Amino acid sequence: MRVTLNRPIGFSMTTLKKSDVQWELMLPAEFDAAMSQLPVCFLPLGTVEWHGLHTALGLDSLKAHALCVDAAHKAEGGIVHPPLYGGMGGLDQPATIKIEPETTWENHLLRPWLEKMCSEIHRQGFKAIIMLTGHYGHNQQIVVREVGARMTERLQIPVLGTPEYWLAMDIGYHGDHAGIGETSLLWHLHPDLVAMDRIDADPVYGKDDRIKSGASAELGRKYADRITDRLAALARQMPEWDAAQRADFSEAERALVSAQVRGWRENDPWHAWRDPQAMRDYGTSLVAAEFSAIKELASKLL
Ligand SMILES: [Zn+2]
Repeated sequence: MRVTLNRPIGFSMTTLKKSDVQWELMLPAEFDAAMSQLPVCFLPLGTVEWHGLHTALGLDSLKAHALCVDAAHKAEGGIVHPPLYGGMGGLDQPATIKIEPETTWENHLLRPWLEKMCSEIHRQGFKAIIMLTGHYGHNQQIVVREVGARMTERLQIPVLGTPEYWLAMDIGYHGDHAGIGETSLLWHLHPDLVAMDRIDADPVYGKDDRIKSGASAELGRKYADRITDRLAALARQMPEWDAAQRADFSEAERALVSAQVRGWRENDPWHAWRDPQAMRDYGTSLVAAEFSAIKELASKLL
């Protein structure tokens, strides 16, 4: 059968949907241009998980991806890899994928997957990697941050692995699950994926008016602005960190992980997270490359 093109081949180039930051939407020329502009890769992480009757099931990955895209625009550079859907843990609720349990130390899928991703991203020539997880059970947080510290040493480029809310704790976002914070963030980032008119029917999230009266797109914008400002600043700075700064960075990140796993072993899984005030300056210190301040902060989590 003869295929009839309704326009000249060359013409279609100008109508293709291209992105200046999203890896999967780029053509090779756009990828090369972005690499020469700022060779930093954003890797958004999340999962599909029940998030109440009022928000989309892919909230965690959708949120992380949209924040990374906005951060790359602010940084005027950087390439955003498509988001990962799958991680540690998940609620015992419908429409939820649990790749590995939240409560066991054994990890056979996420850790090697992320390490391989970092190696592959490094092989392309990127000079820094930011893994941003929008899904944040304690074990997901530990695995992502630990992979960042390990791969910083392995690859000798800075690799950050953090939940997005750690960059907004100083303005009051301490992380939640389809609560005021996440609902607000999704409302700002994907307004069509929040249905507040359904929350009253939800026995958990609609049991009182807390989320209905506390969440808003404006609050989501406030959190998103702080997070993307910091991500953009990190994207500009991380490739410039010298070997000593990379070593200090991975040591500080390891100190956080050490406090988290020790708290889990000796007390309870969330022990190191019990005092949000102790963690509030993480974002400021990280952007200022004050890694000794982060080590100090880690000692307060014990
Ligand atoms: Zn979530």
